[in-house]
Amino acid sequence: MTTSLPPPTVDDRAWVVCGGCRTLHYRKRLTRGLKVCPDCNRHNLLSATERIDQLFDPGSVELLDFPVHTEDVLQFVDTKPYLERLEAARRRTGLREGVVVAAGRIGGHHLVAAVMDFGFLGGSLGGAAGELITRTAELALTRRLPLLLVTASGGARM
Ligand SMILES: [Zn+2]
Repeated sequence: MTTSLPPPTVDDRAWVVCGGCRTLHYRKRLTRGLKVCPDCNRHNLLSATERIDQLFDPGSVELLDFPVHTEDVLQFVDTKPYLERLEAARRRTGLREGVVVAAGRIGGHHLVAAVMDFGFLGGSLGGAAGELITRTAELALTRRLPLLLVTASGGARM
């Protein structure tokens, strides 16, 4: 009687498939290359926090949390209720909304930024996301700092 060894295990999180050429890459190496595929040159999707990490000077970032809340004024339902879809996006991304607000430095220059996350309902712009962008602009005005908007949106949240 022969016994076979179990198949080798691979830490799935250590590897990522390029969305362009489907090549398997070591995640840390792709991240070091700013998530640009070395094989097909595709610029793979970045989360808002990855963009902030890439743009801001290391150690200078302060994530800001403005109290906004999302409402379902239309009581919208397509294949599932809007609030259910919203909760799934929150669980998947770890974000409360599709915009992350940060203050910090780029090249030594102080600024504030509102960075959209396409992974959160396609970066769609709902009332709370718009409120976060508006509050970021107001903060930039109050602090007399430049405002950076990183848009990654599929459009309005319908
Ligand atoms: Zn590729």
